[in-house]
Amino acid sequence: MASSAFAIRMDIDTIVCANSMNNMLQLADKLDCRFSFYINMGKAISIPAAISRRLALSNDFNKSISSPAKKLSIKQKLGIRGILKTVLLNNNLFPICKKELLIAKSYGHEIGLHGGMNHGIWQSYAKHMTDIEITSLLVPAIDEFTYHFGRSFGFTSPGFSINPHSYALLAKNGCRYVSDHVDITGKIKRTTIGELPDIPITLAAKGNIDFLESYIASNTIESLESIAKKSIGHFGYGAFYSHPCFVNNVGNKLFTNFVIELKKIATNKLMIDLL
Ligand SMILES: [Zn+2]
Repeated sequence: MASSAFAIRMDIDTIVCANSMNNMLQLADKLDCRFSFYINMGKAISIPAAISRRLALSNDFNKSISSPAKKLSIKQKLGIRGILKTVLLNNNLFPICKKELLIAKSYGHEIGLHGGMNHGIWQSYAKHMTDIEITSLLVPAIDEFTYHFGRSFGFTSPGFSINPHSYALLAKNGCRYVSDHVDITGKIKRTTIGELPDIPITLAAKGNIDFLESYIASNTIESLESIAKKSIGHFGYGAFYSHPCFVNNVGNKLFTNFVIELKKIATNKLMIDLL
């Protein structure tokens, strides 16, 4: 029996992610794994936020700030239909996969919260939001989430975009931990506000890009066996993150093979069980 552990974090960011949940549960059964899903309760995007993010990114390039690792295009990940649905419908994500998330919970998967009532707004603006602004984005999401899944949950910030005030609100409302940074050693930090444990992701490409997505985009040749071994941190566990839109589509085979390699050296756990 392997003494090391690994957890798989899946952030539900888009309509395509939400629509993939049934297949994700089947994949988990096929791999005999339990995943930790984090749901954004509101809309995937905000058009003004998307434009401002584009501008900020191109500004970063102009300033020659180190660029993130290669990743797949939105078209490769969501497909044309997925992009159209995301932009034109832009429904709240939770109602789309509420049934599957409740089933997932009853099957032993972990369900956590991923930001507030708009993934795009959080990703673009949360860092600089005031206490009042973050409260209006986050509290309705906490209320609806805890109504369905109870207190004692984990939280992940969209785009690793951190707002310290959010940690106070989360700590007050039954959040047990966050997962808001990357550290290959796997050392769990504490947030300065709220004193919540912050479980790191141990494997991500530069710029906190989903490692397996970058693996495909940059034609990496390193074996999955070697990557799986390296990804277990000094504290005996690995925590990985990805998205259902990728794992249920272009990343399916790679993700499956990666988990098979991980299972040879480590035991599958939920993120909350790494505490
Ligand atoms: Zn996200």
